[in-house]
Amino acid sequence: MTELRSQDCLSRVPAALRLDTHCIGGRWQPSADAARFAVTDPATGATIADVADGSALEATQAADAASTALPGWRATPARERARLLRRWHAAIVEHTEALAALISAEQGKPLAEAAGEVAYGASYVAWFAEEALRIQGDILAAAGTGQRMWVQKHPVGVVAAITPWNFPLAMIARKIAPALAAGCTVVAKPAEDTPLTALALAELAAQAGLPPGVLNIVAASRERAPAVVDAWLADGRVRKLTFTGSTAVGKHLARASADTLKKVSLELGGNAPFIVFEDADLEAAVAGLMAAKFRNGGQTCVCPNRVYVHDSVHDAFVERLREAVTGLTVGPAWEPDVRIGPMINARAVEKIGQHLADAVAQGARLITGGMRVREADGPHYVAPAVLTGATPAMRLACEETFGPVVPVFRFHDEAEVIRAANDTPYGLAAYFYSRDARRIARVAPQLDTGMVGINEGAIASEVAPFGGVKESGYGREGSRYGLDDYLQTQYLCEGQLG
Ligand code: ADP
Repeated sequence: MTELRSQDCLSRVPAALRLDTHCIGGRWQPSADAARFAVTDPATGATIADVADGSALEATQAADAASTALPGWRATPARERARLLRRWHAAIVEHTEALAALISAEQGKPLAEAAGEVAYGASYVAWFAEEALRIQGDILAAAGTGQRMWVQKHPVGVVAAITPWNFPLAMIARKIAPALAAGCTVVAKPAEDTPLTALALAELAAQAGLPPGVLNIVAASRERAPAVVDAWLADGRVRKLTFTGSTAVGKHLARASADTLKKVSLELGGNAPFIVFEDADLEAAVAGLMAAKFRNGGQTCVCPNRVYVHDSVHDAFVERLREAVTGLTVGPAWEPDVRIGPMINARAVEKIGQHLADAVAQGARLITGGMRVREADGPHYVAPAVLTGATPAMRLACEETFGPVVPVFRFHDEAEVIRAANDTPYGLAAYFYSRDARRIARVAPQLDTGMVGINEGAIASEVAPFGGVKESGYGREGSRYGLDDYLQTQYLCEGQLG
């Protein structure tokens, strides 16, 4: 039944956007060895498409195309680059319904949320179309007589972008848009679970008039992804790597980038704390937690992973939270009112089960959810769970659960909870709720994370720098800071002038 409906969902996508080959140098091509891999419906595991499986050969062809296109693209006036980005933005927005259907079909998030992702991803394209016009240098006060000194910004060169599956459109758009705005050309490899949306985006970019070779996409299975990416890492023409994914893979890519000393941006795992102080507005805190935690079924790197609630409001907060969580509807992406779709695959469901079992074995109390549901529709639906009595020794306190699980920790004082919040190698996002202005001013700078939500659960935006510290990586996406990652600074000194 679900399989049929999944195909229905895909059938909403015009044939021109249902692509299953690589986009290299403006042409759509299969792999030279004709290899293909299956893209599956996350709910059922049924195959929904067979996509060309890239190798080092296609990776090199893509790097060739990007290198060939680079001089022309970097010399294209910023105004013209901006115009093409605006056209790409318009094409994405115009095809919202088709792109949302692709996202839901391959990734599983509810259709309305998928349409929200299209708008969110498109917002980066619009933003960087505007920022392209504001790449500026500096004229310096010269150090010596008869000298002129100034600073210019140049595109860093060919960029390799590697993206994860949880936001099939937004993750790749927010890397490609600033790269193109800066005058870089791109080779990209989308996640093996979700290549279809990325391929459709490349087609829309071509329809918008982006010159051939400026944006190249090579799809690959999990098995062949390393060969594709390694070819780019070893290639001295690729000057920058931008990666979003797990910390383990990010570290490996950073090491491998060292041989050619690429500029590297890494947006890696998180383990976000969410703190509810005794002076918080509990209703707002529950609403903020629901928004932050259950976006994409808990499969985002900024999802709160550890919820710390002050002893004096713990029971009241947990009761409100339980009510809100039991009200969430789990099911296939295309059913109305569904808030939580399937998890991405069997591995994800297994990890959630292991985290819950480990927590319960160590004394946590499961107060709602945690079991598989909608099994007739597929094995990957999990009822959102709340646990109390969580402790730092539990796996869900140390690792990203990446699912709809809320572990609640009880705390007694501010210094203790700040220590606990920072007691992790990760440092992506943190959230806290308080109505005390002095506490807000005191606590925020002590949180060791790249982003802090204060009385706010939805923090991601194209106007703001998204990124982490510690083992959550380095580099920023979005905002004017996000453009710097794709630019290099050239200082010029002219003498003999006086
Ligand atoms: P997740 O666990 O969320 O799938 P990963 O870090 O494994 O996160 O994957 C993120 C991206 O990195 C995907 O595009 C994936 O194909 C790619 N990837 C995974 N392993 C490697 C590897 N060894 N070399 C290069 N790319 C990889």
